[in-house]
Amino acid sequence: MKINTDDKTIVKNYFNAIGFDRWQNIYGNGKVNKVQEDIRFGHQQTIDTVLKWLKSDGDLSGLVICDAGCGVGSLSIPLVKEGAIVSASDISEKMVTEARKRANDILENTDTINFYVQDLETLKGNFHTTICLDVLIHYPSDNAAKMINHLASLTNSRIILSFAPKTFYLTVLKKIGEFFPGPSKTTRAYQHNKDMIIQTLKQNGFKIQRTGMTSTKFYYSQIIEAIKE
Ligand code: SAM
Repeated sequence: MKINTDDKTIVKNYFNAIGFDRWQNIYGNGKVNKVQEDIRFGHQQTIDTVLKWLKSDGDLSGLVICDAGCGVGSLSIPLVKEGAIVSASDISEKMVTEARKRANDILENTDTINFYVQDLETLKGNFHTTICLDVLIHYPSDNAAKMINHLASLTNSRIILSFAPKTFYLTVLKKIGEFFPGPSKTTRAYQHNKDMIIQTLKQNGFKIQRTGMTSTKFYYSQIIEAIKE
């Protein structure tokens, strides 16, 4: 299945409407239901893992980082706190507006963060590190490689991706979910084959440096860090 303008329009519209309400709550501190609480907890673990990896490789001061599909800034804001120069972008204007608001509320100085409403496949620039967390879930497998190729072309040194891995267990869970029709608060979700993602990174001249997996009851995210050879 190909991702086309319609697929992207669906994702964009979702994150500018019901998806925005749902996810800005999950990625916040307010009251949420048990499932959302679990997802919030899992997502925070992914963010913490990535920050730990980055910090253990050295001081982030002055490092130029692209956060592609930044959502409400859950990663971008702590990166700025660590001294990085961050380019934060998202296809959803509402997400970017919320990220900018949170940055203004939390950060003492917002000079080192720039926000863009942009499809990550049209991003331009040169970044030391490119990070794209939990965005591949919106990409059908056929198009994931093209998207990773583009991110790799922007990246001088390191790329970090996270995605829902294609495992038997998750496929069954997804199928069970599909048996319960009704007003959906979700959009299409695609799992990806870990080997395919690794292969794509290798074809772009990157080698795998670290891998990690966050698993809670309702949140699964495979994290891969690759560095340029
Ligand atoms: N990366 C953020 C995080 O981990 O906190 C947000 C993850 S959220 C599940 C997925 C985000 O990807 C949404 O904000 C959505 O608007 C964005 N997104 C989806 N497709 C995109 C695309 N083609 N270009 C840029 N952003 C995209």
